[in-house]
Amino acid sequence: MKIIVIGAVAAGTSAAAKARRNNDYADIVIYEKDQDISYSGCGLPYYIGGKVPSIESLVPRDAGFFKAKYNIDIFTRHEVLKIDIYHKTLLVKNLVTGNTFKDVYDKLIISTGAHAFVPPIKGIHNANVFFLRNVQNAVAIKTFMQKHLPKTAVIVGSGFIGFEVMENLIDAGIKVILVERAGKLTPNLDEDMSKYLESILSKMEISIFKNSNVVEATNQGVLLDNGTLIPGEMIIIATGVKPNVSLAEDAGLILGTTGAIKVDEHMMTIDTDVYACGDCIETWSAVTKKPHYRPLGSTANKTGRICGDSITGGNMIYTGNLGTGIFKFFDLSIGSTGLSEAEAIKNGYDFLVSHNIKPNKPAYTGGREMIIKAIADKDTGKILGVQIIGYEGVDKRLDVFVTLITYGATVDELFNLDLGYAPPFSNTKDPIHYTGMILD
Ligand code: FAD
Repeated sequence: MKIIVIGAVAAGTSAAAKARRNNDYADIVIYEKDQDISYSGCGLPYYIGGKVPSIESLVPRDAGFFKAKYNIDIFTRHEVLKIDIYHKTLLVKNLVTGNTFKDVYDKLIISTGAHAFVPPIKGIHNANVFFLRNVQNAVAIKTFMQKHLPKTAVIVGSGFIGFEVMENLIDAGIKVILVERAGKLTPNLDEDMSKYLESILSKMEISIFKNSNVVEATNQGVLLDNGTLIPGEMIIIATGVKPNVSLAEDAGLILGTTGAIKVDEHMMTIDTDVYACGDCIETWSAVTKKPHYRPLGSTANKTGRICGDSITGGNMIYTGNLGTGIFKFFDLSIGSTGLSEAEAIKNGYDFLVSHNIKPNKPAYTGGREMIIKAIADKDTGKILGVQIIGYEGVDKRLDVFVTLITYGATVDELFNLDLGYAPPFSNTKDPIHYTGMILD
């Protein structure tokens, strides 16, 4: 059996490694158009700020590693130009020599990922304007910083990448202004939680412009549609990503309503010999079971593994996700999982909402307040979603809620959770218990 994988970052390499674990004899080949493979995209902001001193530590594996450990052949700088699902062939271009050739597969895995969304802004390709999606983007940002020593920067977009880059530019001694087109910060937070976050950020003296539509990027900064110039010598565009689906679409595979590739619970497309995984696929909400697009490394690794298992006769299945996300901004942590209030409304739920502000542990061990917003279904009592903003311990509470939502816990079950207690970690009644007490 010959397995070909397109794309060699999180999903593609996970798929190939799992296929090899299940099958010693398959021929496994990966084509990757970039130079870098299997890198930690999530670590790139910390390279920019200097916390990760060398880019090599984010790219720990090369093609030689995959050949030696898994007997997988990875061809970098090779772009797949076309998929012919009827003859099971690919047209591949060697980007170094310029030569093109055909290859034949028995099973194909599409893990072409996503690309940074390029908003319609004049001057977006200027030399001081950057995106952050891959290793080369991070190196370009760092090189610009070392060469031009900018003192000011503008970040366009207040999602997790915008915040992570902002922290790292500030760490590098740069004054940063955050510009957001919407009336609230970060897509996963409801408006009330965004306001709470803004109040903390204003105490940290972070400059934010909301409701601000950037129309032009210049050497002096960005121009808004109302004529205001937001000054910045460098500009980072962090306005989300779009799935890379053109290969799949041209081949006749079906896209879902979100515009990403449609797959079933085994990661199979409409063609029984073509599978897909990672940021190029549409997944579905584990709460509503409806399709959504949540391009995250956590999901890319899981769907990649399931893909590799499925094509080698395994029976792993994907059960959807909660779109769980968490990021830090200095000592702040911001996390969310499941449905937001806005999504609960959109999906027609009759729901209860609670907000509680409680410390993560006693003041005498350094406890600090965190706010938990929880949304629960009025009819069933099931928790639908949670958003948390705080400091130490947000990740622990978020992951407890992920587990509770995943297993369909109801609000009346929260109080009796036997969570670990000792003063260095928590209080006798945890913020999670309080959420149950308020909602019940
Ligand atoms: P990609 O990483 O996009 O890889 C796809 C690969 O396919 C690319 O290398 C591309 O060159 C190749 N390819 C595309 N088309 C072709 C073709 N025709 N021929 C050959 N090769 C092709 N996720 C989290 O869960 N938590 C985080 O904290 C987090 N932080 C992040 C921070 C940053 C700055 C970034 C950029 C991302 C972050 N992510 C995070 C998201 C995470 O990195 C992605 O979800 C993950 O990389 C997706 O992996 P993938 O393999 O599906 O796609």
